[in-house]
Amino acid sequence: MSAEISGFRRFLHWGPITALSIIKCITLTTLYMNSMWWPPNESFAAFAHQALFLLLSTLATFNYIMATVTGPGLLPKQWQPKDPKDTEWLQYCKQCEGYKAPRSHHCRKCNRCVKKMDHHCPWINHCVGWANHAYFCYFLLFSILGSLHGSVVLSCSFYRGIHRYYYLTHGMAYLASVQFTIGSIVMCILGMGLAIGVVIGLGMLLFIQLKTIIINQTGIELWIVEKAIYRRYKADSYEPFVYPYDLGWRLNLRQVFNDECQKRGDGIEWPVVKGCDQYTLTREQLAQKQEKRARTRVYKCISPVSGRWMPICSQGWRICINAPCTDEPRIRLQPDDIIKVTRFRRHWLFGERVPSELEHTAVAQKRRQRKGPIRGWFPRRSVVAITEMPDSDSSDDVKTIKTSTSNGHSHGKQQQRNGLSKKYM
Ligand SMILES: [Zn+2]
Ligand SMILES: [Zn+2]
Repeated sequence: MSAEISGFRRFLHWGPITALSIIKCITLTTLYMNSMWWPPNESFAAFAHQALFLLLSTLATFNYIMATVTGPGLLPKQWQPKDPKDTEWLQYCKQCEGYKAPRSHHCRKCNRCVKKMDHHCPWINHCVGWANHAYFCYFLLFSILGSLHGSVVLSCSFYRGIHRYYYLTHGMAYLASVQFTIGSIVMCILGMGLAIGVVIGLGMLLFIQLKTIIINQTGIELWIVEKAIYRRYKADSYEPFVYPYDLGWRLNLRQVFNDECQKRGDGIEWPVVKGCDQYTLTREQLAQKQEKRARTRVYKCISPVSGRWMPICSQGWRICINAPCTDEPRIRLQPDDIIKVTRFRRHWLFGERVPSELEHTAVAQKRRQRKGPIRGWFPRRSVVAITEMPDSDSSDDVKTIKTSTSNGHSHGKQQQRNGLSKKYM
């Protein structure tokens, strides 16, 4: 599992390899073009100019490596609060076999609970959270500044390079220092495209990150607060929800960025505003979970679902044109799978597949595991609603259920089920 990956093995993944290649490509192209456009040995200003670019590039790489190596801060497995009574306010994580500390969330990619999880970033092949939030933001900042610098150097050299003939024929030979070959012109255009792309892409990301830091609300917490407000709006009688971690923009910023460039606290206990306590948000999360459980319906799969985004061959065009407009995953299903559905559309449902007992043993023995996400959208026509969870209590914490996987048995009943499915459509 990726949780066991540590240190530099994190870099052996398409995300870090691509990200580092882009940084290096922009750096080397800029240095090469700059050596013709404004050679650093020409004057002190030229030297300082190149040194500034190298500094930005080095800082970007350093913070990138630190964000990846440091990681977000993983909650220890089987974590318990100091006072056992507090467990009643906390969610339990089955995968980590412990309680989730306030602001911690389980990351499916890292397969661990992550302290103050913001998001899982494939580019650093790790989560962004409590311990590496500052490194991640500094990486974004220096990449943007470096790329901005790079794109200016590359654009100017490009302009000089393509006007070289003009300069030579009009008595301005001193401007004709940039000389292109086929290879270098391709490199220059590619470098320019990458640099401008980085400025725009990472610029937007940095803007979002700064917003979450200033209000001290991670992407996940934004969702929780939105649901908390909606819950109160719907019920009319509730008191307004007070978000416990917003201490004002100065203190919020200082929680992430500080003079020592070190993470603050232990990532478990957080300072809260007056009138709130450590478990204000977790109590709200539990209440939301309870409501979610109340609207959960159990479905059984009756025909295979490919997990494709556009299952035109298996499901037909009507299902495809009514597909939900989100980037949330699609799940793959097999007949007899049990799915707990929490969101309902006319042709699509969103839910979580309940792993069967057989699958649990397969995972434990590291044998054949089912691929693909466990939670996501799937076409409604491939499932039927069932009222009760077979051979299991309705608690969300009991996930192992017994399902019949005998092929002959399921095949024999297929036609009967297809008839049944029409009734539910
Ligand atoms: Zn966990
Ligand atoms: Zn993660």
